[in-house]
Amino acid sequence: MCDRAFSLPPALYIHVPFCRRKCHYCDFASVPLEADLVKRYLGALKREAERELASWPAGWEVPSIYIGGGTPTALEPEDLEVVLAVAALFPRAPGAEWTVEANPGTLDRAKLALLAAAGVNRLSLGVQSFDDHLLSFLGRIHTAQEAEEAWDMARAAGFGNLNLDLIYAIPGQTLRAWRRTLRRALSLRPEHLSVYSLSIEPGTEFGRRAEAGNLQPVAEELDLSMYRAAQELLAEAGIKQYEISNFARSGFECRHNLVYWRNEPYLGLGPAATSYMSGVRRTNREDVGEYVRALTAGEDPTAAREVATLDLGMAETVILGLRLTEGIAWERFYGRFGRDLRDVYADPIRRLTRAGLIEADAQGLRLTSRGLPVANRVFQEFLP
Ligand code: SF4
Repeated sequence: MCDRAFSLPPALYIHVPFCRRKCHYCDFASVPLEADLVKRYLGALKREAERELASWPAGWEVPSIYIGGGTPTALEPEDLEVVLAVAALFPRAPGAEWTVEANPGTLDRAKLALLAAAGVNRLSLGVQSFDDHLLSFLGRIHTAQEAEEAWDMARAAGFGNLNLDLIYAIPGQTLRAWRRTLRRALSLRPEHLSVYSLSIEPGTEFGRRAEAGNLQPVAEELDLSMYRAAQELLAEAGIKQYEISNFARSGFECRHNLVYWRNEPYLGLGPAATSYMSGVRRTNREDVGEYVRALTAGEDPTAAREVATLDLGMAETVILGLRLTEGIAWERFYGRFGRDLRDVYADPIRRLTRAGLIEADAQGLRLTSRGLPVANRVFQEFLP
């Protein structure tokens, strides 16, 4: 029995690896905007799409498109148009969700009109905070007011499905200030919120400061209180938590990200983009120059490839599925792998249930509210 999910058409992700300036916490694959490199990237991206489309099965339609980065909206309008045209080469399912990530410091009316005209129906705005001093501490290129102006512009351009990204547990941020940011975010009536605890990663500006002893991460208890505050305030506002870090009004859950959390197939184009199709997970070269060189030479831009064995596929499906508050349905797992989840993972399920971190009922398995903030510890138990 193999994984039946691989007969599904993939969701499409396109990585735009350029930003105006690197944020101090960022370890995403992004480099400074440079006109000549952007042009070469666009040529390579088109080639990569054509390579994929050459073997595209008849009748396949992507259920969702997500253009992320980097900062897609940092591109000049004519370059952004090329990325949108590459995405549009792929047949889309009727009503497909199409998201573009936007940095409030890079949005204007012309770009918004271009996105809407192309068929983009969801924007994800990286607001991060409504405290100007924290935004500047994070190295963001916009103020809180600019974020609100970008939000209003997006609404005026007709976008009725907006996500707002926020970061908490920023050194120096108080619980009170975080609650203020949440309330200000809610006053914008977002359809969707992503709420992440700041993670200090090696190789970033914050990583270097921490290593030199100049930056202290927020204490675990405060981090947890901030997470609980987000859960509380968003629930009061009728915005439901559906994933460890994601909250949405009913019907506005991000369909593209649900594909990842359900461990279903996706195709990633662009430097550092990952694809998961036909039982293989592969990741493109991260270096933009290398990515361009490979595609210009007619080569495959893949840097790493891993074959997903059935054991690995099942474990990843459990780990990713547990991120969702709905958890994993017994029936869905059985329909996909032909195995009963309760038999495959009998031991970890028993241990974790006893510890109060997961719970099972007639439908399936999910994290408890105690398990949600310590999910990574739970996931370890399912690794093959
Ligand atoms: S805008 Fe986003 S991708 Fe770009 S540097 Fe900042 S956090 Fe990273």
